[in-house]
Amino acid sequence: MTDPDLLFPPDPRTREVARILFAHAKDLPIISPHGHVDPWLLADDRAFGDPAQLLIVPDHYVTRLLYSQGVDLDALGVTRRDGAPVQTDGRAIWRLLAEHWSVFRATPSRLWLELTLAEVFDIRTPLSVGTADAIYDALAERLAADAFRPRALFERFGIEVLATTESATDDLAAHAKLAADGWSGRVVTTFRPDDVVDPEWEGWGTRLDRLGEMTGEDTLTYRGYLAAVQARRDAFRAAGARSTDHGHPTARTLELDHAEASRLYARLRRAPNPEDAEVFRAQHGSRGRAGNPPRGRVAAGAVELEQQEAVFSWPVLGGMAAHDASCRS
Ligand SMILES: [Zn+2]
Repeated sequence: MTDPDLLFPPDPRTREVARILFAHAKDLPIISPHGHVDPWLLADDRAFGDPAQLLIVPDHYVTRLLYSQGVDLDALGVTRRDGAPVQTDGRAIWRLLAEHWSVFRATPSRLWLELTLAEVFDIRTPLSVGTADAIYDALAERLAADAFRPRALFERFGIEVLATTESATDDLAAHAKLAADGWSGRVVTTFRPDDVVDPEWEGWGTRLDRLGEMTGEDTLTYRGYLAAVQARRDAFRAAGARSTDHGHPTARTLELDHAEASRLYARLRRAPNPEDAEVFRAQHGSRGRAGNPPRGRVAAGAVELEQQEAVFSWPVLGGMAAHDASCRS
């Protein structure tokens, strides 16, 4: 873990180049243009929960690998859709990880966890069944300290800008709180309208009703829907958003005229069906038209809201910033 050449290429010549590049970059501030950190973590700045709730339960790479070995997701504390109770004892969850630690050999998850323990928490004891409790206690103790609160870690990691991602119906209260309380860390939102653009996303109609309430627009009509999405997009921009984030099942794009799109919208509002839904997504995936003529420009996969500073690295599909569906979670 302390090897300065960790993860560098084995070939001596390219390794030398990697060393030079890394030396340039390693102390630069972090500018994180896209991610899904919960902005309330930083707005509230409360201490994190127990070690398992921080490092295991929300990490689907870790829970999936354990599940593949027969470990029940309930036992790992993963929330159930039906709301039935799951394990809440962090120590018990942590012990399960320790019992199955060997299956993580040579995985990025193991490397990530070991680096986290060593570099963030200064815990260098190898994880095993025998050391699990001591490591858990050491983690819990550190997590209770002020130095491990979200804002302290934000500053320690040298983060200059962090972009979070919120859906169109988010009221952006966390960002308002961050802006109001004078903390120096810069956290901006990102406009993610998928759950009001995709009629097949469960609860679409209910969210459109909510969108109407938030904006005072009649979202039973297509015109009202467009105006409402535009209003939310403007609100996001006012709250600091510099980019949008979209996940689309396909790269299809098309451009219906207003009358045709209105009829499509009315049909979907009555009862979504897969064919109409795909056409609707295509209409609104093209050029970020959900409520806005394209005012920005598409650059390196980013749909920028103005000529602002954000740059995404996602591939451009059909003129939109697309990336994988895992961002839905
Ligand atoms: Zn994303």
